[in-house]
Amino acid sequence: MEFNIQQVRNDFPILSRQVYGKPLVYLDNGATTQKPRVVIDCINNYHTSLNSSIHRGVHFLSDQATEAFENARETVRRFINARHAHEVIFTPGTTAAINNLAFAFGERYIAPGDEIIVTEMEHHANIVPWQMLCERKQARLKVIPFTDQGLLQTETLQQLINDKTKLIAVIHVSNTLGTVNPVADIISLAHRHSIPVLVDGAQSVQHLSIDVSKTDCDFFVFSGHKAYGPTGIGVLYAKEKWLEEMPPFQGGGEMVDVVTFEKTTWNELPFKFEAGTPNYIGAIALAEALKYLTSLGAGNILEYEHQLLRYGTEKLLALGYVTLYGSAPDKSSILSFNINGVHPYDAGMVLDKAGIAVRTGTHCAQPVMQHFGIDGTIRASLALYNTTDELDILADTLQKVKTMFG
Ligand code: PLP
Repeated sequence: MEFNIQQVRNDFPILSRQVYGKPLVYLDNGATTQKPRVVIDCINNYHTSLNSSIHRGVHFLSDQATEAFENARETVRRFINARHAHEVIFTPGTTAAINNLAFAFGERYIAPGDEIIVTEMEHHANIVPWQMLCERKQARLKVIPFTDQGLLQTETLQQLINDKTKLIAVIHVSNTLGTVNPVADIISLAHRHSIPVLVDGAQSVQHLSIDVSKTDCDFFVFSGHKAYGPTGIGVLYAKEKWLEEMPPFQGGGEMVDVVTFEKTTWNELPFKFEAGTPNYIGAIALAEALKYLTSLGAGNILEYEHQLLRYGTEKLLALGYVTLYGSAPDKSSILSFNINGVHPYDAGMVLDKAGIAVRTGTHCAQPVMQHFGIDGTIRASLALYNTTDELDILADTLQKVKTMFG
């Protein structure tokens, strides 16, 4: 399909609104993306005509909703190319997926003295749950550092690995630096030592073509709301082997087979890991978002976003007073920067009044800020509906910021 930016923009109702009387320039897509009409309509339609709890009812509406929910699971499976639909566990989001995994994996595999490796560029969601697990189990967290260019020093991984290493958890695309990490290489090295790898795909699934079978990752997590879907829904993909071996992370309805006061047995996959009434409408709407991305074409999205990234990078550097963080050759559409001599928060306030939504601060990645010795950055994170005109507006407004504060 031809990638027609005006048509794409028309698919997102919110993009035509104004803020402070100015056209909205939404460049905070790393935090959350806007929703296409198909997703909004899907949520409305389900509440209007199909709402019913899944898996439990014997009536028409429950049957229909159950079928739609399981079809959504199959859509996710296809989108990330998992081998089995039962390897797709719906969760409330990336953070919930990692916390749940840290609990179940920790219960089954982590003992005192064991080690878990993360990277210096992780989002807090892929640091803190592992840190909490290490504290619970007297295990140790180790860190792969990155260079000032924003490249993981993967050559150190070989030295960090030993026979106590139980898991490597790595961010696929950095939410602060944009770096696309060489996850396939990391996985292949880890597997040579029989170590499983978790890939945090919160910033990759909406930009890159994902193939969990090809990269052979053991776990892959992402959030619906960052991939044009709704909030409150996300995915934990895990290889069948791990799901079979790990205990459930929550107990309750639907995840059980037989319950007696003496003993309870677990339901089959994936239900063993989906206790309680799931966010089925969220899952169904997430599937709509993924179908929408598929209809645009992963290659088209990648090419268009790369053009935007190149254009935005040149624009910012041409200003002459901007420090850009993250210049990996393989980079996703994130521009993290500071205006020399201006606090990011001050810049963010001025940009806001011009109708421009960016994120300022540490982006839930304080170790990245500590690496550079800075308080925070301004982050313009680009999506498939952004335009070069919007980047022009950004650059012009930054010039005003510099004049006001510089
Ligand atoms: N991981 C990365 C790389 C992220 O960028 C984010 C959110 O910004 C998260 C995890 C957490 O996602 P959520 O807040 O949707 O659980």
